[in-house]
Amino acid sequence: AKADGRNLARFFDPSMQDAASRRASLEAAMREGLALGQFQLFCQPQFDCRGRLVGAEVLLRWQRDGELVSPAHFIAFAEESGLILPLGEHVLKESCRALARWHRDPTLARLKLAVNVSIHQMRDPDFSGMVAGILDDTAAPAERLCLELTESVFAENMEEITQRMHEIRAQGIYFSLDDFGTGYSSLAYLNRFPLAALKIDRSFVREVGTQPGSAPIVEAIIALGRKLKLEIVAEGVENEDQRNFLVRGGCSSMQGFLLGAPLPMAEFEHVYSAAG
Ligand code: C2E
Ligand code: CA
Ligand code: CA
Ligand code: CA
Repeated sequence: AKADGRNLARFFDPSMQDAASRRASLEAAMREGLALGQFQLFCQPQFDCRGRLVGAEVLLRWQRDGELVSPAHFIAFAEESGLILPLGEHVLKESCRALARWHRDPTLARLKLAVNVSIHQMRDPDFSGMVAGILDDTAAPAERLCLELTESVFAENMEEITQRMHEIRAQGIYFSLDDFGTGYSSLAYLNRFPLAALKIDRSFVREVGTQPGSAPIVEAIIALGRKLKLEIVAEGVENEDQRNFLVRGGCSSMQGFLLGAPLPMAEFEHVYSAAG
């Protein structure tokens, strides 16, 4: 199966012309998929600048009729419909189960696991309690878990979100700011959140070496991160030039097709465990 999902339109019954019934049908399909275990966790490895495996990012896939649908095709709908709450809970639960398993493997036990969290989840008053419950049930090591938020947190009710982040941070879990530089980008707010890392968006990484203006931007993000004592994670590293640039620039860690594609969780564990 291919990792890139195609247009969700092909899942729709063509007889359902109006948007409302299409949405209802997609929502029903997603609920059913959730119940049937069709939402599966993939893991992409992350390496430090010396090439050592240091972590992984969880990336969701919808295994539907033999096809893997990319989250780019369903996360926005999940957010609009509210399904992001049960879906996000599923991702967190499975991620924590993985961390608990990894804890017993000499290689995997060292890894951090990054999980994407939607701002809709952060707005949920029950979110931090739910996270605490999952940590409790799974006995996952909280200090191995890092939640990735996008800059949309800057546009939200800052006090509420900051408070919730502190509650979760107090459980031992870390936060990183994803897709840094592409969104709202209010630098003034950066140090108000309990952040451990910044992720340089792959649009900047892609242009390093091709667009003359990009290298200084990446260098500036790295310098900013260092000043703020944040780790800098680069994503979308596809070639040696990009990797060399990021290593020279002082990036903490990186991920991308050059270093390792996202793999189904079981395969990731097989490939990267001490036993595998
Ligand atoms: P993201 O968090 O920025 O994740 C990185 C995306 O880049 C992933 O796309 C990954 O497969 C892709 N990627 C990794 N290495 C390379 C590379 O070298 N080159 C290129 N061109 N791409 C690379 P994916 O898996 O399709 O995920 C898309 C987005 O969906 C993610 O972007 C994230 O925002 C969201 N997402 C994924 N899983 C979840 C989840 O469990 N919950 C939520 N709320 N969002 C998720
Ligand atoms: Ca991410
Ligand atoms: Ca990202
Ligand atoms: Ca991105």
